[in-house]
Amino acid sequence: MNMGWKQVLTASVLLLCVSSVEGGSNVKKDLFGKLPDGTPVDIYTLSEGPIEVRVTNYGGYLVSLKVPDRNGKSADIVLGFDDLDGYVNNNTHKGTAYLGPIVGRYANRIARGNFTLDGRQYSLAINNGPNALHGGPHGFHQVVWKGRLIPAGIELTYLSKDGEEGYPGNLNVVVRYTLSQGALTIDYSATTDKDTILNLTNHTYFNLKGAGQGDILDHDLILYASRFTWADSNLTPTGELKSVGGTPLDFRKSTRIGERIDSDYEQLRVAGGYDQNFVLDAGGRELAEAAEVYEPSSGRVMRVLTDQPGVQFYTGNFFDGTIKGKNGIAYQRRFGLCLETQHFPDSPNHPEFPTTELEPGQRFHRVTVFGFSTRK
Ligand code: BGC
Repeated sequence: MNMGWKQVLTASVLLLCVSSVEGGSNVKKDLFGKLPDGTPVDIYTLSEGPIEVRVTNYGGYLVSLKVPDRNGKSADIVLGFDDLDGYVNNNTHKGTAYLGPIVGRYANRIARGNFTLDGRQYSLAINNGPNALHGGPHGFHQVVWKGRLIPAGIELTYLSKDGEEGYPGNLNVVVRYTLSQGALTIDYSATTDKDTILNLTNHTYFNLKGAGQGDILDHDLILYASRFTWADSNLTPTGELKSVGGTPLDFRKSTRIGERIDSDYEQLRVAGGYDQNFVLDAGGRELAEAAEVYEPSSGRVMRVLTDQPGVQFYTGNFFDGTIKGKNGIAYQRRFGLCLETQHFPDSPNHPEFPTTELEPGQRFHRVTVFGFSTRK
């Protein structure tokens, strides 16, 4: 049937109405797949000009992020999988690699999985050497979030029940991904009905050449951080905030990541490369520059802004080719870099660090922005 222009117009207006009710014409929802128990999982596509972002409500994974290079050629710059099964099965003999999910309740490590709150001792599952890592074996990266289209993006909500993975309090978490003016914003908020602790981040591995296109050693990095949390051999902080001055962790001026990554420096040796929490100079008080990454061959630039006090800079040191990602490409050592904006690791055991406690009546709220551009 051929439609006349009036019908086309009416249809478009109707469509516009539907999509504006749903939250904006640049966002759409499709079925991503089904979990082994039959639960349907969605994938949301956010597009603005040449930039396209895809996020799933399973674990809140950032599935793909396409941005143009200096010649306008697009590439997907985040590591991940082609389908839902890849995300569901992404455990390796060394544990989950967290290829792009929302991480919680407590991103990063809690030493020996123990913390005390209001005089009560809590013990979490140990899933990383002697420590609890990234919210435990069944953390936020493995749950199905409730998704809803909002203007320019999507909102994911999850109610983490009192006692889930050992954490106290019913925690209501809301994470919004929005794409606007060439930037992807991730907005995290949460409320609780009992005193609890939390540390939320996103664990995306970026490679500005394109996912699977080699390692990230040729990327240039700036970190707006003059100090880092000195870590012991289990990668948990000793409590000391150490100056980056004179160390291979000094990225205050743009420096190639590969230049010093294998230096004979204890903090690099214990982690097998970069895997440290940097103390952001802005102090977590307001949205401010945290990092800038530049990849010379494509000209792609990513700027990271946050109001979190720290950022874990991690260079994928544990990838060993076991994980086959998008297009079946094996992810080798240092094929991606993470800039996990967050509170400091093990904060519940370091009262001198910015607090990660949340009480009933308070609202946790943090924002991170990833901005994309190119240069010569
Ligand atoms: C940690 C790494 C860990 C990786 C994957 C990062 O946030 O800092 O030590 O291997 O996550 O679990």
